[in-house]
Amino acid sequence: MKSDEHELHDDKEKEAWQIERELRAAFDEMPNKIPLLLFTSPTKNEPFNDATRQIIRAIRQMTDKVDLREFDLGHKMARKWKAERSPTLIFDPDTYHIRWLGAPAGEEVRTFIQTLIMLGQGTTPLDEQARKILDRIDGPRHVKVFVSPSCPYCPQQAINGLMAAIEKPGIISLEIIDILANPDLAENYSAQSVPQTYANETLIAQGAQPQELFMLSLEKMEQQNIFIPDEDAEEIETDLVIVGGGPAGLTAGIYGARSGLNSAIIEKDTLGGQIATTPVVENYPGVSQAGGNTLVDLMVSHALEYCKIFQGEEVMDVQIGNPIVVTTSKRRFNTRTVLLATGAKHRQLDVPGESRLSGHGVSYCSTCDGNFFRGRKVIMVGGGNSAVTEALHLKNIGVDVTLVHRRDTLRAQDHLVSNLENNQIPVLFNTEVKEIRGKDRVTEVVLLDNRAGKTRKMEVQGVFVAVGYEPAVALAKKIGIEVTPEGYIQHDSRHRTNIPGIYSAGDVEGGYKQIVTAAGQGAEAALSIFEDLINPYWKKETGTDG
Ligand SMILES: Cc1cc2nc3c(=O)[nH]c(=O)nc-3n(C[C@H](O)[C@H](O)[C@H](O)COP(=O)(O)OP(=O)(O)OC[C@H]3O[C@@H](n4cnc5c(N)ncnc54)[C@H](O)[C@@H]3O)c2cc1C
Repeated sequence: MKSDEHELHDDKEKEAWQIERELRAAFDEMPNKIPLLLFTSPTKNEPFNDATRQIIRAIRQMTDKVDLREFDLGHKMARKWKAERSPTLIFDPDTYHIRWLGAPAGEEVRTFIQTLIMLGQGTTPLDEQARKILDRIDGPRHVKVFVSPSCPYCPQQAINGLMAAIEKPGIISLEIIDILANPDLAENYSAQSVPQTYANETLIAQGAQPQELFMLSLEKMEQQNIFIPDEDAEEIETDLVIVGGGPAGLTAGIYGARSGLNSAIIEKDTLGGQIATTPVVENYPGVSQAGGNTLVDLMVSHALEYCKIFQGEEVMDVQIGNPIVVTTSKRRFNTRTVLLATGAKHRQLDVPGESRLSGHGVSYCSTCDGNFFRGRKVIMVGGGNSAVTEALHLKNIGVDVTLVHRRDTLRAQDHLVSNLENNQIPVLFNTEVKEIRGKDRVTEVVLLDNRAGKTRKMEVQGVFVAVGYEPAVALAKKIGIEVTPEGYIQHDSRHRTNIPGIYSAGDVEGGYKQIVTAAGQGAEAALSIFEDLINPYWKKETGTDG
């Protein structure tokens, strides 16, 4: 009779044999040979060089499709392919831009084998949704994924990078960097916890991500935590269509769906509305301090538990009838009610050069664009809470910012003003921006000292504008909703507008413009809609069905 130890040994052998058989089969099926260049130096990282050779040798015993050539780092081939570290593996360099700095050892053996199989087959297991996102990326991305042999999550992220680099070799390059063999790089990039992913030298992900989130992060060039699948249907039936995915709309989605209404939230731009552009939120109950994006992620994930969200889709028209027909840039919704939670948007300066250079140095969102201006000189125009908050944010991330305000005192809250002073942010009072100049990018502004009546030029690379907000009522006006003299949607205490079946909530109603009030109004409006659908007030008033 065999001992337990022998049985265990036999089991392990069987398992190894099975894996080898599967690998041989996978390698056999590969139509392509894989040219593989290994660059090493006998004086650098020899244990890692050796580990790399051993792993490749083991694989070459299973397949003749890996065409390995090893060169010394001093060889002219190293100069040709710009290999500077030992060991460096470069995969099929005539077709792809994929290299591995370090040894593909430990957990990373999985990544290495998967790389060979994907290259050998010329395909990747990218799913349809992730492929759609990847297809939208049209600019170059130089991706670096930091990994370590003992990290079980790293292969997933490295493989995401590989799929991107294999699918789009024309614009995506990849370096998988083993932090054990390259501690100096890990130090430079603060990559002590892996996996960590950079694209074009910007940190875009910490931790391993599902394919879709990796591709989204690569597209948006910042970490994305929520993925909303595309919906193909051209016509959708709902009880409630919510226009706007800010705090009002997201809360209404939760309350509407929890009341049993089939609800859909439609957002043309960034989910979270204005919160998405808010650096830090400190006054939302239960969350003493959170980045705007963090709060958005929490709200969006919560809303997604209850209702569908259609992002990147603009509501273009609403036709009143039974049903109400909501036409978006992608499809039609036949619905019983509509909630307008369209919020507010930034006001423009309306000076020459502003529109032309918008996105080329003129920005309305320091959280979104501030990073591009690190170490550069910019002005922040405005004197209220937003301008001061955003100036502080810019200063905090290393931007050389000057506040420009047309009056002689700031309108911002006292604690913000003292924060501004403590951070030694210069303020130009009684100063107006008259023109923004630059050929392709902002290079200077023309400023008017409105007391002295004199203009002067100031060299800057960026102009951030925070001079107030306007309610987004174009759609409301188009469908005949009444607005107040101040331009906000006219509504009653139950958030009903003048058109039966159409409601409003949030900043678009005026009043206190805060996240908590917008969320509260979204909840109230959804509950009011639910009650009205059970017992339609318009039937009582008009004797019709809406
Ligand atoms: C820089 C800044 C800092 C702030 N800081 C704070 C803070 O610390 N605390 C706080 O409580 N509040 C803060 N606020 C205010 C707060 O963000 C707003 O009051 C709140 O976001 C309003 O929510 P809302 O849902 O009504 O509108 P919004 O957040 O404006 O959202 C409306 C959404 O509707 C979408 N939309 C509009 N028209 C259409 C259409 N036709 N089709 C589809 N979608 C459409 C828009 O794209 C937008 O995403 C801040 C605002 C800013 C700008």
